[in-house]
Amino acid sequence: MGVAGRSGRGLPAGRAVRLGRSRVHPSDRAHSRPEHRFLINRYGMGFDEITASSLVKIGLDGLPVDEAHSDQPIPVNPAGFVIHSAVHAARDDALCVMHTHSLNGIAVSAQRDGVLPISQQSLFVLAALGYHDYEGVALNDEEKPRLVRDLGRNTFLMLRNHGLLTVGASVADAFLAMYIFEAACAIQVRAMAGGGDLLRIPAPILAGIQAQAAQVTRGLGGALAWPSLLRRLQRHNPGYDR
Ligand SMILES: [Zn+2]
Repeated sequence: MGVAGRSGRGLPAGRAVRLGRSRVHPSDRAHSRPEHRFLINRYGMGFDEITASSLVKIGLDGLPVDEAHSDQPIPVNPAGFVIHSAVHAARDDALCVMHTHSLNGIAVSAQRDGVLPISQQSLFVLAALGYHDYEGVALNDEEKPRLVRDLGRNTFLMLRNHGLLTVGASVADAFLAMYIFEAACAIQVRAMAGGGDLLRIPAPILAGIQAQAAQVTRGLGGALAWPSLLRRLQRHNPGYDR
């Protein structure tokens, strides 16, 4: 989670920074799973300031669990949790939900045809992608059933005119799914920038990827890439885990 705010260049963690500079809110189900407690970033903190102990534990209502024992209100963004709480409540397998307002993601979300099959990255996304139409900034509980319906059992959800969302069985999986989602969108924006005809990957190849969807989308390399991302984070932002 902290990686999303780490500064750096070039390497995967550097990519995370660019995600972090857009609005990102990850939420992670806390260990007390049966009680439905979640960890979310403290409202107003930069992603390079967030540490493990600054995360706020909240319930499905979006309210801080520990506020009753605190002298002052704990700042969280309850509106921002509407999306996350809907997914967490509906998907037991979604231990981490990540949502970004990245520029490339929003740009593609505004394109009528959505994600195009023009890169290998896009094939991974298309193998497990849903779309959710924009209903306005003021998200409310009434939108939750449609959000859950549109996500379905997918890993990737494109929020039309709004941004990207991924789910994962771990923070690593959700982050790496977001990394490839954002990459697919960035590639598409660049590929379309010249205005020339695009080569679409043939349907049989896409179908082949879809047949392996579960394997592919869960195998984005979380276990492989995450430890090195954490080591990088430790080098550049020591103390993130305190
Ligand atoms: Zn949003």
